[in-house]
Amino acid sequence: MAEITPAEAEAFPTLSAEQIARIAPFARERDLADGESLWEAGDRNRPLFVIVRGEIEILSGADHVVTVHNAGAFTGDVDLLSGRPVVVRARARGATHLLELPPARLRSMIQTDSELSEIFLRAFMMRRLALMAQGGGNVVFIGSRHSAGTLALQEFLTRNSQPYGYIDVDGDTAVQETLDKFGVGVGDVPVLICRGTRVLRKPTIEDVADCLGLNDINETAVRDLVVIGAGPAGLSTAVYAASEGLDVLVIEARSPGGQAGSSSRIENYLGFPTGVTGQLLASSALVQAEKFGAELAVARTASRLGCDRPYRVELGAGVVVQTRSVVIATGVRYRKPDLPNLSRFEGVGVYYGATQVEARFCRGEEVIVVGGGNSAGQAAVFLSEAGRHVTMMVRGAGLAQSMSRYLIRRIQETPNITLLTETRIVGLQGDSRLEQVTWRDGKGATTTADIRHVFMMTGADPNTAWLQNCVALDRQGYVKTGSDLDADALANARWPFVRLPLLFETSRPGVFAIGDVRANSVKRVAAAVGEGSVCVQLVHKVLAESVA
Ligand SMILES: Cc1cc2nc3c(=O)[nH]c(=O)nc-3n(C[C@H](O)[C@H](O)[C@H](O)COP(=O)(O)OP(=O)(O)OC[C@H]3O[C@@H](n4cnc5c(N)ncnc54)[C@H](O)[C@@H]3O)c2cc1C
Repeated sequence: MAEITPAEAEAFPTLSAEQIARIAPFARERDLADGESLWEAGDRNRPLFVIVRGEIEILSGADHVVTVHNAGAFTGDVDLLSGRPVVVRARARGATHLLELPPARLRSMIQTDSELSEIFLRAFMMRRLALMAQGGGNVVFIGSRHSAGTLALQEFLTRNSQPYGYIDVDGDTAVQETLDKFGVGVGDVPVLICRGTRVLRKPTIEDVADCLGLNDINETAVRDLVVIGAGPAGLSTAVYAASEGLDVLVIEARSPGGQAGSSSRIENYLGFPTGVTGQLLASSALVQAEKFGAELAVARTASRLGCDRPYRVELGAGVVVQTRSVVIATGVRYRKPDLPNLSRFEGVGVYYGATQVEARFCRGEEVIVVGGGNSAGQAAVFLSEAGRHVTMMVRGAGLAQSMSRYLIRRIQETPNITLLTETRIVGLQGDSRLEQVTWRDGKGATTTADIRHVFMMTGADPNTAWLQNCVALDRQGYVKTGSDLDADALANARWPFVRLPLLFETSRPGVFAIGDVRANSVKRVAAAVGEGSVCVQLVHKVLAESVA
């Protein structure tokens, strides 16, 4: 018999008799006959089942057995906390006796029983990671290296922890059979087959979120707090707000994690001496927020903030959520250099983030990283592992002004990274994808080389266009808060109270701004997370004020 690895033991632990006895008073007993279904892929708000006798098979796709749970084991993964559609199905193997723990009971147990909480949460996360690594679940994704939409969708699925099986039309000759089966042509790629039935041709992330149930919103409730943006600032707000009993909804335009989620390795975040990938930090933070009951809707963009209380956050297509308080945590978006052809090569040679997804495309190849900030430095070091050689290009005379010393040292010590100063890209060429890059140095000399991958890491602008005239912004468009709001700004905004705006409060009472989107913020993960925790204390104050 194959030995169980430590990772398998964490993903599929066996509960002790004493632990099962702690669950039993909150659960109901159930008996299943051989072959009886426990749930189907796509079902929501499933209970957690503890196997007392018999076995439960977990299946993905047509009939692939992911695992078999025996006596003492329990079912479930992260979807149990979020209430999202489950990605696998389950049926009894032989006569089976179970304990059924409803989702609300599971959540309160996770908050009160620290031993069981650790066992459940660790298992849920490990199981989801394993399913993603196996390409399991109920999504088949047919893509091409030459289609820009492929990369965007892969990133969306990965960053939302959605497992999928990937078929590349360029590398897999049998793919035509699958395409024929669903009546789609190669010209329709990327194609996503959702739950084995719905075929999405060239879908947007909104289409995918809709099909997978990642963007559901209850529009009838007036929330205590709506957080816009699920980067580190927004996720931290969600964790503290939900853990302190507030009814909180987080709206995210793309995927949880924000800029940090696109970082290959964050090395200066407290408590992670060997660094942590943005993806792991974001997915763990999300599980933590959902464990306390926070809700998240992704692929939903706030398009306008209505300025009267209760505040109305408009999400396009007539969807509106109402709330007593708002936290703006929309961060910044990458600046795009003014280059002809740039948009043509986005996703097919031009990238704005360097994660494992992009690194796979660059294996053994020449890479350019543009920019002199920490994100550019991290990307260069990370890509030097997969790529043959990395050329860093900066407009200035060096890196010292813009980059942390540890990264400068790392770059100097990496033999396959070359730094070109006072240099800028002036041309991108190619047919269906980027093939050649032309750059000019400080002396005006131009060089053209066959390079297929350029990472643009050239600074960012705040995501505040949607706020229009609702809150006061500074000249660069960042949101002014607290003592940054002088008497003139408050008079212009018709600030209604004798009290001044609280720390992080904008020119609208009960509307806060934190993280990178805030004027004069420190652009760091730790700062964004810290501001989220402080902000929740102030939200409590404002909510009490509006009741008084
Ligand atoms: C590649 C890279 C590496 C980095 N490495 C480090 C590091 O090592 N250490 C460090 O401390 N910092 C690092 N940073 C900086 C750090 O990631 C940011 O300071 C931090 O992510 C800011 O968090 P935030 O939540 O304020 O904003 P963001 O991370 O920008 O998140 C904002 C979120 O809001 C969403 N959003 C925007 N507009 C809307 C809208 N209208 N409706 C709904 N949602 C919206 C966005 O999609 C995004 O998910 C790095 C940044 C990058 C890009």
